[in-house]
Amino acid sequence: MKKVICPKCDHPIVFDDSTYRVGQSLVFECEKCRKSFTIKVGEAYEDYEEEDFGYVVVLENNFCYRQELKLTEGDNVIGRYNKGTIISHPIETRDPSMDRRHCIINVKRNGAGELVYVIRDNPSVTGTFVMNRILGDRERLRIEDGAIITLGATTLILHTPYGEE
Ligand SMILES: [Zn+2]
Repeated sequence: MKKVICPKCDHPIVFDDSTYRVGQSLVFECEKCRKSFTIKVGEAYEDYEEEDFGYVVVLENNFCYRQELKLTEGDNVIGRYNKGTIISHPIETRDPSMDRRHCIINVKRNGAGELVYVIRDNPSVTGTFVMNRILGDRERLRIEDGAIITLGATTLILHTPYGEE
C-alpha cells in the first residue's frame, strides 16, 4: 500500500498502486477537506506500512460468531452493530444486553513509546466488566494483553503486539 498527503490539510490517504502503470495520473479527493489533487504513479508518495495497535477477539456465543476488531490509535468505540449508529468498532451480534455504544478502548503511546491501553464504560446500561469486575462510572482502567472484557453476555479478549512472540 502507498500513502499520499493531502496538499491542503495534510490528511493521509492510503491507496493500492499495484494495478497502475508508472507515469499514469491519479486523481484523489481528500475525504477530510474535499480537496481534489492529482499525482503521477511512481512519484510524490511513500510506502505505507500499517502500524499494529493490536486487536480484540469477540468470542463466539449464542448471539454472535467469532470476530476480530483491529484497534487503532486513539478512541476505539465498541458496541452492538446497528444500522444508523456509526461507531468505529461495531460487533455483529443479537446480544440485547450489549449497548450500541458500550465501551471505549483508548490506545496511545506513552513517553517511552510503549502502547498503553485504557478502557472505560461509555456508560452502558449493563456495564463493562474487566476480569469479572465492573468498571466504575468514571473509571479508566489500564488493561494489558490477555485482558478479558465482558459486555452483556459477550466476552472480548485483548491482544496487543506485545503478547505475540
Ligand atoms: Zn484535505
